[in-house]
Amino acid sequence: MITIKKTKTGRVLRDAVEELSDVDLSVCFQCKKCSSGCPVAKLVTTRPSEIMRLLHLGAGDELLSKDLIWTCASCETCSTRCPMGIDVAAVMDALRRLALERGAPKPEGNVPLFNRAFLKTVEAFGRSYEIGLITAYKLGTGKLMNDTEKFPAMLKKGKIALLPPRGADRKTVKRVFNKSKAGTGAKA
Ligand code: SF4
Ligand code: SF4
Repeated sequence: MITIKKTKTGRVLRDAVEELSDVDLSVCFQCKKCSSGCPVAKLVTTRPSEIMRLLHLGAGDELLSKDLIWTCASCETCSTRCPMGIDVAAVMDALRRLALERGAPKPEGNVPLFNRAFLKTVEAFGRSYEIGLITAYKLGTGKLMNDTEKFPAMLKKGKIALLPPRGADRKTVKRVFNKSKAGTGAKA
């Protein structure tokens, strides 16, 4: 069951999400195809179709603390499956951006830390770099030795590269990050 509290920020949040994502939330007819294909739906308390419904009904900024916002893998399965052509993944992006802008409390757990570590490595190397990501994440958790036994097998199977990626356009990626930080008011 979906419950929403009547808040002053409801309409404002819906407008902001529609503007940022270029999505018309009113065309969602709750078929739930987005949720049934979402790879993280079983791990979260609020699924994509529920987020869509809550937004449409006028939920306020409390929505910005939902775990899906930070668990979403941006795989875009939801957007591909939606029979109304709604870009649900863009709605998740918009909610993440608004959560940062408005300083919404983040859910417990290490998902926000993982997100930060991932973005830091992309910003630094121009592409995803697993060793950099793992190092930043482990330093953040303080559990440096967790899962280290898997490392040799992953290395052997070529799942992890020791050296940073070559050929990345670091300057352009850096510019994108700086522009994004200027837009959200985050520190460059
Ligand atoms: S798939 Fe599209 S129409 Fe169906 S619930 Fe999700 S967003 Fe709404
Ligand atoms: S983009 Fe996010 S919300 Fe959509 S299916 Fe992928 S993980 Fe789920």
